[in-house]
Amino acid sequence: MYRTHTCGELRLQHKGTGVTLAGWVQRIRNLGGMTFIDLRDRYGITQLVINDSASAEIKDAASRLGREFVIQATGAVTERLSKNNKIPTGDVEITVTALHVLNAAETPPFTIEDESDGGEELRARFRYLDLRRNPLRRALELRHQMAREVRSYLDSQQFLEIETPFLIKSTPEGARDFVVPSRMNPGEFYALPQSPQTFKQLLMVSGYDRYFQIVRCFRDEDLRADRQPEFTQIDCEMAFVEREDVLRTFEGLAKHLFKTVLRKELTASFPRMSYADAMQYYGSDKPDIRFDMRIANLTGALKGKGFAVFDSAAYIGGICVEGGATYTRKQLDELTEWVKRPQIGAKGLAYVRLTAEGVKSSIDKFYTPDELQQAAAAFPAREGDLLLILSGDAKKTLDALGALRIEMGNRLGLRRNDVFAPLWVYDFPLLEWDGETQRFYAMHHPFTAPKPDDLDKFYTNDNALLAQVNANAYDFVLNGVEIGGGSIRIYDAKVQQRMFEVLGFSKEEAAYKFGFIINAFKYGAPPHGGIAFGFDRWCALFGGQETIRDYIAFPKNNAGRDVMLDAPSKIDGAQLKELQLMSGERSTSTEEG
Ligand code: ASP
Repeated sequence: MYRTHTCGELRLQHKGTGVTLAGWVQRIRNLGGMTFIDLRDRYGITQLVINDSASAEIKDAASRLGREFVIQATGAVTERLSKNNKIPTGDVEITVTALHVLNAAETPPFTIEDESDGGEELRARFRYLDLRRNPLRRALELRHQMAREVRSYLDSQQFLEIETPFLIKSTPEGARDFVVPSRMNPGEFYALPQSPQTFKQLLMVSGYDRYFQIVRCFRDEDLRADRQPEFTQIDCEMAFVEREDVLRTFEGLAKHLFKTVLRKELTASFPRMSYADAMQYYGSDKPDIRFDMRIANLTGALKGKGFAVFDSAAYIGGICVEGGATYTRKQLDELTEWVKRPQIGAKGLAYVRLTAEGVKSSIDKFYTPDELQQAAAAFPAREGDLLLILSGDAKKTLDALGALRIEMGNRLGLRRNDVFAPLWVYDFPLLEWDGETQRFYAMHHPFTAPKPDDLDKFYTNDNALLAQVNANAYDFVLNGVEIGGGSIRIYDAKVQQRMFEVLGFSKEEAAYKFGFIINAFKYGAPPHGGIAFGFDRWCALFGGQETIRDYIAFPKNNAGRDVMLDAPSKIDGAQLKELQLMSGERSTSTEEG
């Protein structure tokens, strides 16, 4: 037996017990003839002591130990003279009577401490060592707990966990597919699923009316910060449901996770907001509602008063920073530079300070104090507040105001990671026009149902009307992060065919790519809908972290590389030949004859 206890387990009550522990050497100290070793495993740290009376053999073994050696130690649990109240085992130590080195270790390239001295790149190359550190261990433990509670809740709601294939057919769902060449079908490729979307809908047709899966998804996107080419979803689908049923069920899941993982009891219903309101009041389809600071439309109040910049703008809007009137000129200049950064793209920033001495503003040459007070009433703002105003094209200005609002929330400490503000956003547009390719794309995906009230518009060929069609789609937003998204689906083959037509697919193309699902809908498809949650991101948010990388055991870096494996990598000529991917090497002989 390698061990009788773990390194996190022993307490004063074990005093006198003979035990054997195994683990990694965290630290070694020599103090006046005694050697103290901190022995670590996943569960904690226990102090070993080798005192003067230990055998020569033990002393010799101890003298040759180094950090991260794997050892086994036997001895009696003794009460420590100087207790360490920072660790749960801090009242005891093991007086060692036998010591075995199970495996020596080279000096690790960085310290295995909560605050390691290793840089990100180095730690990524030695991920298996980084995973020994407490912050990562805690992250993986939280992830495990989340997965367990997801299963427990969904099981209690009659959901079946069903696996779907990874080698599938390339289907457009927004992002690019990763493809896998088929050796047995030269020149043909599988695609890795961006999500199990079509399979879960087919399972509804098959009668499995509540499905879920904690499943890996693959998207070959240009990697923006904190995206992974493979990530995990909690993927769910239900039959015989309307939007309300889906929202209620998954609000239940969220509350269950809050309660069991974070010990937070959320009793009130989650707030809901239409996409249109989210855009106009928060400049975002995923508003962070931990703080208010809503955007007000000031176009009516400020346009047409002789200030050329505003008069030529389609939209003028602003946010009100409570108590911000004390902002100095320097701070305001710095904010102006901030909104002019290319990522934000504003041309300039106008401000109005509501001070006890009256209205002070960057635009008071063009507006009377009364006119500015009128604009301030739109928020409503009070004495002591600061208005920050942007103008221009409506969509771009709202986006910029949304970003400015988040920035101000950060600067004012209004986005605490231990405060949680869940939100449902619903009624997204069904379609998005792409000027470059001159066609509509599905905003969510092509299987999302139009709202019944908009069906007339859905059947016109007028692009302006089509652009107004709303989808029966919803997102789950937590602290300004989109954690989940789903929709009520199309389940009528003809409506599905019309959708593909609107998306610019010919009948033949639609049949080639999606024939299987259109056909399935002809054999008794029930009304259905569902949702999928970004599991990695949800874990990170619950862990109070912004990046998902620590919540994935073996993640890729920002360039999509696994620097530990050094993947992706070249494959050799023989492999390429076998797959018939080498140019000019395509075999013409058919060996199967
Ligand atoms: N498959 C969708 C996605 O990955 C989610 C859903 O509609 O259920 O975004």
